[in-house]
Amino acid sequence: MISHETITGILKNYDKENITIGTIGSHSALQILKGARDEGFKTLAICKNNRKFVYERFHSADEIIGVSDYREILDDDFQNKLINKNLILVPHGSLVEYVGAKNIEEKFRVPLSGNRATLEWESDRNKEKKWFKEAGIKMPKEFKSPEEIDRLVIVKFPGARGGRGYFLVDHKVGFFKKIRSRGMEDEDYTIQEYITGTRFYPHYFYSPITGEVELMSMDIRYESNVDGLARTPHWAFKHYAPEPSYTVTGNFPVVIRESLLHKVLEMGDNVVFASKKLFPPGMTGPFCIEAICTDDLKFIAFEVSARIVAGTNLYIEGSPYSQILYNEPMSTGRRIAREIKIAIEKDMLNDVIY
Ligand code: ATP
Repeated sequence: MISHETITGILKNYDKENITIGTIGSHSALQILKGARDEGFKTLAICKNNRKFVYERFHSADEIIGVSDYREILDDDFQNKLINKNLILVPHGSLVEYVGAKNIEEKFRVPLSGNRATLEWESDRNKEKKWFKEAGIKMPKEFKSPEEIDRLVIVKFPGARGGRGYFLVDHKVGFFKKIRSRGMEDEDYTIQEYITGTRFYPHYFYSPITGEVELMSMDIRYESNVDGLARTPHWAFKHYAPEPSYTVTGNFPVVIRESLLHKVLEMGDNVVFASKKLFPPGMTGPFCIEAICTDDLKFIAFEVSARIVAGTNLYIEGSPYSQILYNEPMSTGRRIAREIKIAIEKDMLNDVIY
């Protein structure tokens, strides 16, 4: 892991009047870049050559750089070019997926918004479990081997893949059949109790400057094909029985029943508190807890994303919650840029950048 001192050493030489906020052209880049621009920063997008036109079409950044592979950002010359532009890069799910958490932590010297040590904790399921345990948040039961399956379970594969390839099964025989048919036998997998309930993916922002955890917004993922199955008439399943799949294709806005709000706020507080204990100084900036609310109104969480999530894209103009907090259009992307701006003013950049 590149040390905090190395990054703050690079940051020390930055022209603070001339910071550029940049990100990878994917995931939540349109929102991040708009937020940075709204806060008065210069902006830069690094895009795959074949997706550059999307960001050009939206006039989304002052500068757009094309690459043929996102891993090109790890090249020394490329990194120096970014550092010379006084660039702070905002990490998101596509950066982690395409460049790799380890590569970012160990090879990428460009200052990142947030704490880069967090990437390791959110992308490793065992560490994530430890984190939830420390936070006192209930998780679905996990089964160590297929032989132990005694109820409906969801089988997951590693990485931020938006649910791709996941399947449901309720017995070991079905497990082996399905994993073989997918050609995934040699992959790492997690077997997790399938929880029935309603999903809530609250988006939080933790500021070490104010010491507060803000609830910015919430979404539900729109997943193919499971969210489409309800539209298929029941009689059709006699001859046509598609497997549910969980590939993210979009997001729905949601607000939570107000009498459940305290539980959502407590989960956020506890996750931040636990992160300070497990990897001091802990997580800073945006994060999301993926949770299911059961019919006895308990929350069971199955994932923490310790960075901006794409569900925040719904709220470029703010959400019902951020409206109450800010009374101005405040997306999570803009909140990230606002934090950097306040940190520059208060000379606290080292607390929000690593
Ligand atoms: P990402 O890293 O992009 O968040 P992922 O590949 O890690 O996605 P998850 O978010 O863990 O995948 O799960 C994908 C979807 O599968 C969820 O949005 C949810 O609909 C469903 N799901 C996951 N775990 C459970 C569970 N234990 N019970 C019921 N549904 C689940």
